[in-house]
Amino acid sequence: MPLNMLALLAPALLTQTSSGAIPVDALLYSTMPSTAVHRPEMAMDGDAKSSFRSVYGMEEGDSFTVLLSRPIAMRSIRISTGNGGDDVLTNGFVETSADGTTYVKAAAFKADGVAEVQSIHGAIAAIRIRMNPHEAASHLQIREIGIDTDVLIAHVQQGPPRGFVDVSAAPDLADWAARAEKKMESFWPDTAALLYSDGFITPNAVHVIYRTGPDVTPVAATGGGVMTVNTAWCHQHPDDTGLVVHEAAHVVQSGGSPGWLIEAVADYIRWIKFEPANFTYNINPQRATPHDPYRTGAAFLAWCELHYDSKLVTKLNDATRFGRYNDGLFEKYCGKSIDALWKEFIAAYQADKPNLLTKPVPAAMRPRDLPSVTGATASVALPLEKVGVYADGATFGESGGFDDGGAAYSGALLRSSLTTRGVTFQLGAAGSPSIMSAQGQMVKLDGHAHKSLWILAASVDGGQRDQTLSVGYSDGSKINFAQNFSDWFEPEDFPGEVRALRMAYRVMGTGKQDPRPFYVYAYGFALDGSKSAQSLTLPNDPNIRILAVSLGD
Ligand SMILES: [Zn+2]
Repeated sequence: MPLNMLALLAPALLTQTSSGAIPVDALLYSTMPSTAVHRPEMAMDGDAKSSFRSVYGMEEGDSFTVLLSRPIAMRSIRISTGNGGDDVLTNGFVETSADGTTYVKAAAFKADGVAEVQSIHGAIAAIRIRMNPHEAASHLQIREIGIDTDVLIAHVQQGPPRGFVDVSAAPDLADWAARAEKKMESFWPDTAALLYSDGFITPNAVHVIYRTGPDVTPVAATGGGVMTVNTAWCHQHPDDTGLVVHEAAHVVQSGGSPGWLIEAVADYIRWIKFEPANFTYNINPQRATPHDPYRTGAAFLAWCELHYDSKLVTKLNDATRFGRYNDGLFEKYCGKSIDALWKEFIAAYQADKPNLLTKPVPAAMRPRDLPSVTGATASVALPLEKVGVYADGATFGESGGFDDGGAAYSGALLRSSLTTRGVTFQLGAAGSPSIMSAQGQMVKLDGHAHKSLWILAASVDGGQRDQTLSVGYSDGSKINFAQNFSDWFEPEDFPGEVRALRMAYRVMGTGKQDPRPFYVYAYGFALDGSKSAQSLTLPNDPNIRILAVSLGD
């Protein structure tokens, strides 16, 4: 039976009788990961044949919790565990809570793996399964949580991620803890998505205990369903609440190895993804290694993603989670060995630390100002080859026109010349050759010194990016330009591009008009005014259609 069918059937199966009371919803919380074939909801779907099963062991701090949307009266609770004799829980117990915060022990699991809570007084808001102190089990497998009640449990699902916080040892940190929990819970789904593994259901809960003492790790530690935060650290670092995002990453990771990568990924989650604006790091190139944990490791992973594989962390974490990690995976995903990547990373760090983790911007996307033109412009004669402009009402072939698809600019709208930004372009007449496709041709310029070069153009079949053109000077030198070109129907306002003319329609080969806006764009390039411009080499992309070229002063 498909899973969604189970979910739909669950309310009817869970209801003993209906008294007409307002239904409740149940949210499930597990500190232990499971898999798609043993989802948490299967613990409470009315079918003892389907079950929740943790991937790894259950420890003292782990729990599986049912939180109801309000307290309800119950006659009894029966929880069965195990699977035909295997993984029967015999060293655990069931707690109930009237308010979802304070729990009392209600029943122990017996030798058959069943716990029954009888003669319940007062309404129940939550049920929790836990392990006896100082004990553990290889798995928690819950076949069914059966609740005998007159209230309809209308919906059972995993709850949104949360920390069950205990600040009883440091009540003055309640505010610190509340801010931390907010950060942790809001970023948990992103963390789960970033650390995704096929069919793996990450824990959606952790017990967060604030305390201090010689046995508490200096900052925080997470494992076995419990995140321990050292209150001394919190007092000394009132703004470091983001540390719980690092710790929650460990909950989502659910263990694994090697340790350096586990810690590098957790810092990557916090510093690269959650609060990059606060990320500071210092790498000692002589002492750092590609196996450094924490911030150095996080920076290295982020750099590898920027340049080689944008999903690297997801892939590496999947390997660590299932014990499949080896250094060769860097080569598999990035195409270079971890040592080669490390060398490049360190070189990049030494060359330009502030931009180490900045995505390189393609030359054509770097902002630039258009040259200003105050003097005359000179037209450049072009070997125009095709008719891209037709008179309104003219007919032409389906493979003709500006786009080779039976559509063209209107001669009535484009006219014989066009001036923008002080530059004048001379245009071919409607019905005669008026455009050329850019195919790397070299166009002769007038051999005089000019301040700028201008191209009137548009592309078809979408915007054309990362194009290169160049101007050759009489002294043999040349200057290259990078440019993106917008489609004649979709202005993208690329750097160096200006909308020269917006036309209310285009003309079709059928003689009709297509009443949508179309554009032609001007592209301006600054020249070295002390040199004579001799030639222009066009980009090599036939989807770019050139209408005119002018030189500006
Ligand atoms: Zn850590």
